[in-house]
Amino acid sequence: MKPDIKALEQKVIDVLANEAYQGHPLHDVLNELWDYNQSQWARMEHMIRLSDSYQDMIIQREKTLGERFDKHLRQLEKITRISDRYQTALREANLELEQASYADALTGLPNRRKMLRRLKSEFEMCRQGICLAMIDIDHFKTINDAYGHLVGDDVLVSVGNLIERTVGELGHISRWGGEEFLVIFSQVEQAQVEQCLRHLTKVIREAHFDNGEAYDIRTTISIGMSHYQADDSIDSLITRADNALYKAKNSGRDRFVIG
Ligand code: GH3
Ligand code: MG
Ligand code: MG
Repeated sequence: MKPDIKALEQKVIDVLANEAYQGHPLHDVLNELWDYNQSQWARMEHMIRLSDSYQDMIIQREKTLGERFDKHLRQLEKITRISDRYQTALREANLELEQASYADALTGLPNRRKMLRRLKSEFEMCRQGICLAMIDIDHFKTINDAYGHLVGDDVLVSVGNLIERTVGELGHISRWGGEEFLVIFSQVEQAQVEQCLRHLTKVIREAHFDNGEAYDIRTTISIGMSHYQADDSIDSLITRADNALYKAKNSGRDRFVIG
């Protein structure tokens, strides 16, 4: 059975206070024991208080650490989100830049760099059956001289569009430079390419470039064509198309010549 400590303590206090027991040897022993017991209690209470405050401190510390950890985590998540957005923006900007570097600023057509890339990959995949058409606007300088450079620009853009529409799916057009366009036909029968180019000279010859009737300009084109032959390089294929164009110019313009 558990003793009633409170009652026991009261009994000891009563015995020690009782005059009748003063001077008795057991009274002194009990007194010493009582003092020792009291100091032990005081020590224990001190330890309990210490332990409680230590525990409070640990709980508080854990809470602070937890809050700090959560704050850092939120900051990290924010930084990650910003970095993701930044990387996406960077990728898009790079893509735009790459596309811009392959497009001709005036006509929006693929530029010479893009065409050389295409030629290179076509050559690597299957060079047999490649045809090139080097197209140059006839007497274009006279259009600039008569109507001004801006109208010249408009005509250049319109001729480019018309060539692109006429060639359609058969070939890929690029602005090669100045008033020259290079078209590549791959895996198209040579006879079909010739027919397409002959038709193209007719389409341009019959077209009116009027920009909403602000003027009425007529023009023609000359075309030099080359088709892949054994041991051809990209350069030799282009050179043959160039030479054929030169012949077309020298033999009266508004025509196409096979190199
Ligand atoms: P040809 O029949 O021999 O080709 O005669 P051409 O006058 O067309 O040839 P030439 O090489 O003498 O002149 C080409 C002209 O094209 C001169 C140049 O100012 C003009 N040109 C080149 N690029 C542009 C352009 O982007 N815009 C305009 N408006 N003109 C251009
Ligand atoms: Mg010209
Ligand atoms: Mg030219």
